[in-house]
Amino acid sequence: MLTMVVPRLRLVVIFLVSLLVNTLVVRPLPAVELMFDYQSHFSDEQKKQLKTWLEQGKQAVENSIAPIPQQQLKVTLVQQKTRTEVVPWGQIVRGNPDSVKLHVSDRASLYALTNDWTLYHELSHLYLPYLDYPSFWLNEGFATYMQYIVMYQAGLLSRKRFIARVKAGFERGRRKTLTKPGKLNRVSADMWRLRAHKRVYWTGAAYFLEADLALQQRGSRLANVIAAYSDCCRRDNSRGIYLARQLDRLSESKIFSQLFNQYRERIDFPTVTNDQLEKIADYYQAHNG
Ligand SMILES: [Zn+2]
Repeated sequence: MLTMVVPRLRLVVIFLVSLLVNTLVVRPLPAVELMFDYQSHFSDEQKKQLKTWLEQGKQAVENSIAPIPQQQLKVTLVQQKTRTEVVPWGQIVRGNPDSVKLHVSDRASLYALTNDWTLYHELSHLYLPYLDYPSFWLNEGFATYMQYIVMYQAGLLSRKRFIARVKAGFERGRRKTLTKPGKLNRVSADMWRLRAHKRVYWTGAAYFLEADLALQQRGSRLANVIAAYSDCCRRDNSRGIYLARQLDRLSESKIFSQLFNQYRERIDFPTVTNDQLEKIADYYQAHNG
């Protein structure tokens, strides 16, 4: 009898341990379900096009970063009569869970929508918590840095155009720093009144570019750290310094907090060299999606 019981007991133990391991380690996030809320009259054809755009955009962002860390995502769509812009307005509506609101041109084709950066920017916001206003440059910086990486990895931008777009963004940020001077955290907290978006967005993008390069030198990359963060620690609200410390812990480094301390009170626009841009382009060309 004993000889029968022991192997059975062992099997039960193995089964329970494997259940526990599966729960703790192999815990694939369920795919995010998109819920559409049309706030204007769209034809069936337009709705179909918008759905395709959003599903493809979500896929591109998840390929570059990680599964979107929520089970459902409401997407509110508003039609706007304009010929000049494809997606004239996009925003994250913070809540539990967060949702996305997009204004789209009544004339936009699927091609034009897919080649617009706004969707990739907005969806990238979903990976980080809503931060204190002086640290807002981290929120905007991450979305701004990721928007073109997502497009590049999805094959929507050639290497040349990827570098040109990022370079042009940094140049806009540098110029804006001359007309919107002061410490970055102060300018961030008052960004809307000062109309200092470009300085705040692109200084934050430089922060993440520097962090990503430093991680790549250690054999990791920004997306790995953000994926780990969204799996274990994503909260609705936080403070910039706490976020930086958590990212440090997950990357087993001091990269994020050291750069955070360098950046938060800086009055200049960071120097981003051509060599750094080439390295980023090389890296994402080699690690496609
Ligand atoms: Zn944004």
